[in-house]
Amino acid sequence: MKFGFDIDDTLINLRGHAFSIYQQKLEQEVPVERLDDFKRLEIHELFGLNEEEGRQMWMDHVEEIFFTNCSPFKGSLEVLNELAEKGHEIYYITARFKEFGERTKEWMKEQGFPVQDDHFYYGMNDDEKLHIIQELDLDYYVDDKPAVLDTLSDLRTSVYVRDQAYNRHLELPRVTDWYEFKRELGL
Ligand SMILES: [Mg+2]
Repeated sequence: MKFGFDIDDTLINLRGHAFSIYQQKLEQEVPVERLDDFKRLEIHELFGLNEEEGRQMWMDHVEEIFFTNCSPFKGSLEVLNELAEKGHEIYYITARFKEFGERTKEWMKEQGFPVQDDHFYYGMNDDEKLHIIQELDLDYYVDDKPAVLDTLSDLRTSVYVRDQAYNRHLELPRVTDWYEFKRELGL
């Protein structure tokens, strides 16, 4: 079968990683429970930054956020490797900017994710993922972002939402644990 995955906050805890970097850089001790309950993907408001300051903070630290030691979510590495070993096709579809695409691919390989060079897509807008998913004719696709998931309702692909505080309003099958996802699908 063909599986597609978003990367950030679906397979790896990028938001949590950015949160600890912001804490360090801004020297602010924001309790992590606030992040867990925060109903927005972008985290700058937790640090008292406005939209413009938040955008600037992200741009100033984006390389460090993307290419240091961000942790995979529990089970994501193992489950994707098992799927690949069983002969399933794994595709990655990330909206990370084009300039970071190839480095992201290498970074994912270094973390141990099963990456095939021609199964890796990046640099599209949220509403353009739809076309790639459609073209690849994926059986399953998992993402965390409402702006992406909202565009996918007419596909034959089974769409799953990776559970996060900011997407709980979506009525889609939910992945809270990668091992469970595998069990549920009988893989
Ligand atoms: Mg994401």
